[in-house]
Amino acid sequence: MKIYQSPILNHFSNLTHAFTTKDGGVSKKLYNSLNLAFHVNDNLLDVTRNHELLASTLKYNKRTLVHMKQIHSDLVHIVDETDDFDNPPICDALITDKTNIPLMVMVADCSPILFYDSKKEVIAVAHAGRQGAFKNIVKNVINSFVKNYGSDAKDISAIVGTSIGVCCYEVGSEIYEEAKELDLNYAIQKRDANFYLDISKILKSQLLASGVKEENIEFSSECSCCKNDIYFSYRADGITGRFAGILMMRE
Ligand SMILES: [Zn+2]
Repeated sequence: MKIYQSPILNHFSNLTHAFTTKDGGVSKKLYNSLNLAFHVNDNLLDVTRNHELLASTLKYNKRTLVHMKQIHSDLVHIVDETDDFDNPPICDALITDKTNIPLMVMVADCSPILFYDSKKEVIAVAHAGRQGAFKNIVKNVINSFVKNYGSDAKDISAIVGTSIGVCCYEVGSEIYEEAKELDLNYAIQKRDANFYLDISKILKSQLLASGVKEENIEFSSECSCCKNDIYFSYRADGITGRFAGILMMRE
């Protein structure tokens, strides 16, 4: 199973984390092979098996994993004992100070973000596509750290996994207009007569504006659409699986 890990998060021996790829699962074509999403018409037994394989690779109990019914919102859900694998909350970010509960965000071109406050011992994950970036879900996550756990933003690390790059993310003029209205012109590239959106640029700016320090921010340099042989990409493939960012604190 091919996974990616963050140099920043690897410094913390109490953390288990990964960004998955297509590799190492049992799903068949269109979803081959490590599809982790139940809502994309893949065989449900295969998806469950993929979760078991990932849990055994990263050494956590699959039953305790919390994932999300992601709806491109800016909602942050505080994880508690009522959450489990079979009842994903409807939201686009999860946060907890509890140990041995893996948090998962699933993507295919959107940005998977892992957060860790090493002082207060709090973790979070977030799903940020265009809508999440336009709604500034990053700010809501940092606010949730501060409000619910007394975090200081300068203690929070933010790791952004692979997503669609500005190389491939062409958008229509209506999105360009919306970005302009939100003062996000800086994230639009114009090539020939076409507009391209740089989500990573927006996320970086929002993280910095929320008080996260530049040296605590990490971005994948890859594009899921260019590298759709390695990652699931909605833009490249349409019907496809989802890969994931996972983060857990151990006791
Ligand atoms: Zn690309």
